[in-house]
Amino acid sequence: MPAKTIKSNQNKCATCGGILKFFPKDRALKCESCGGIEKIDIKKEFDKHYFDEDVKKSKEYNEFKKTNKVFKCSSCGSNVILNSLEISKLCPYCSSPCVIDPKEDIGLKPDGIIPFKFGRKEASELYKKGIRKKWFLPNKFKKKPPIDEMKGVYVPSFSFDANASTTYYGKLGDTKTDSQGRTHTTYRTISGKFNSQHHDVLVESSSKINQKTFNSINPYNMKEVVSFNSNFILGYSLEHYNQNLAECKIIADEIMKNKIKTLILSNYNYDVVAEFSQNTIFSEEKFAYFILPIYQVNYKYKDKNYTTFMNGQTGKVGSGYPKSAVKITFFILFIFLIFFGFVALFYLT
Ligand SMILES: [Zn+2]
Ligand SMILES: [Zn+2]
Repeated sequence: MPAKTIKSNQNKCATCGGILKFFPKDRALKCESCGGIEKIDIKKEFDKHYFDEDVKKSKEYNEFKKTNKVFKCSSCGSNVILNSLEISKLCPYCSSPCVIDPKEDIGLKPDGIIPFKFGRKEASELYKKGIRKKWFLPNKFKKKPPIDEMKGVYVPSFSFDANASTTYYGKLGDTKTDSQGRTHTTYRTISGKFNSQHHDVLVESSSKINQKTFNSINPYNMKEVVSFNSNFILGYSLEHYNQNLAECKIIADEIMKNKIKTLILSNYNYDVVAEFSQNTIFSEEKFAYFILPIYQVNYKYKDKNYTTFMNGQTGKVGSGYPKSAVKITFFILFIFLIFFGFVALFYLT
């Protein structure tokens, strides 16, 4: 039987007054009391901005400012975005009472969002499946991965686009081994110009996850970013950016420069890089503020607290889980045995 259609009235079900929550499977709002469903109007288009644009002038920005509040938790430092109709007595991240005045300047408005792709039940199945594939997981953990708490949180990130024009200079070496077993390296210089385009270079801006852990649950399918709509947030927590745009831009530039270096060097054959310098000038630089879905799994294992993150769009499980010391030791021993086996084979034959 198809679910009945309801209408929402200030985040509540207009039929029965029940609380509405975002339901990832139907990409709709669902009433907790009567099970009625209201479809969300999903818009594909969103803006990316030039850095000199005054993003706080748009109509959408004023609408966002009117309907949302931003709180800073005095206990864990999270910036939390709350719908102005929501009254949160506890910080959604650290559960400490948050009686803090809302910030006057709410900062930037999210431009795009990837809504959660699956609900908590499916998330816990995907998590168990994903974590069991991890290397060095203790056997006891593997049998029954502990989950004390699973939270769906939307985390802030900035996406950067740019065209880059790079001039570079470098010194590459080729090594050769002669008949006596001595190695010789000959060097040659390289230089040139290299143009490249960069899209959706993502930098996390959350206080909950660092860039390394964030990378471990990447990539996101950026084709599924839709225009930000606070209906996608109902029932989940939304963290506002913690690192500001300028700080994230510095990180993005570094990521792009490293990628350019890799791309340039991939055009050459070499054994060693003795020297490399590049001068990159960016143009057509744009940014967008994106909200991305993450499941945060908290648990205790052998008296230690762990948090493992999972991509809320793809189900990819990230780093931050316990590793068995015994398994790691055996693995290292195994590598040593193979290595010495080869050496022995080489000298004995
Ligand atoms: Zn209802
Ligand atoms: Zn808090």
